[in-house]
Amino acid sequence: MVPIGMEEIVKAPKALLHDHLDGGLRPATIVELAAEVDHTLPTTDPGELGRWFVESADSGSLERYLETFDHTVAVMQTAASLHRVAAECALDLAADGVVYAEVRFAPEQHLERGLTLDGVVEAVLAGFAAGTEQAAAKGQQIRVGTLLTAMRHAARSQEIAELAVRYRDTGVVGFDIAGAEAGFPPTRHLDAFEYLQRENFHFTIHAGEAFGLPSIWQAIQWCGADRLGHGVRLVDDITPGGDPVLGRLSAYVRDKRIPLELCPSSNVQTGAAPSIAQHPIGLLRDLRFRVTVNTDNRLMSGTSMSREMALLVDAFGYGWSELQWFTINAMKSAFIPFDERLSIINEVIKPAYAKLA
Ligand SMILES: [Zn+2]
Repeated sequence: MVPIGMEEIVKAPKALLHDHLDGGLRPATIVELAAEVDHTLPTTDPGELGRWFVESADSGSLERYLETFDHTVAVMQTAASLHRVAAECALDLAADGVVYAEVRFAPEQHLERGLTLDGVVEAVLAGFAAGTEQAAAKGQQIRVGTLLTAMRHAARSQEIAELAVRYRDTGVVGFDIAGAEAGFPPTRHLDAFEYLQRENFHFTIHAGEAFGLPSIWQAIQWCGADRLGHGVRLVDDITPGGDPVLGRLSAYVRDKRIPLELCPSSNVQTGAAPSIAQHPIGLLRDLRFRVTVNTDNRLMSGTSMSREMALLVDAFGYGWSELQWFTINAMKSAFIPFDERLSIINEVIKPAYAKLA
């Protein structure tokens, strides 16, 4: 088998379900936007700034990791800056060969300069639409769906859930909660999840990244999550060996085909996995969980969707059939309507991989 090169991976269509808007800015854009609002950055050299983000996220210190978001969020407080960041996000993903992306952000973090929650959402949706159009003009097709995130330490989840439902016909396809897992179980936001279920809406929950099985169990069995953001600690419920044994929870997740939004580089940076080569994605794929590959925070991890795929190719020897499997898994798990998912699978993904293989 000829090893797959980065250039070919970029050309292959990919689907991405877990990507944070405030974790994917271009360093040069941060420098420009920071100058406009007099925000002080660690450095104003875009190259150095990009390295600062990755090093801070790599440092193993949660404080330094979180500090990186202080800078990105600080420059995303106006309609114009949100529009620009969202447009560039769509363009960058399209240039990387991503044909379908769900990008998430927390509207409540962008109110420091007088925007309303609705104003934030509208600016981002308009930005995604503009970026998608500009990409199409270059011959790069991408469909971007938006997820609205509520912060798990805050108390606005019901309000954000209602906001998501309000924009469901204009680009918002789902809801999420994010933030520190320990001490902030998803059951704190049960009202929001029950509301979303009554509205026949979709949601994912960040669970099983820093924290273990109880967080995953609550997300699924108490909150009714459609997907798991990370879910990497699910391996704690699998006894390894020649014939791995699944516990009740991991068996349930596999039986129900609950998608796992795994983010290899990010999981290594936060200590959820020791290395790419030892990342549970290898075992979870062998056991045929509904595994998807994601970027999480492209800026902080210095990564892209293609790079995540390339890392897996290097670490596990995956070929086109595995990359196609991850891509179709993601597309099957997307929050857009079934017929739209099917058309991307049958008209875009399968024909492209048939040619590559
Ligand atoms: Zn995340």
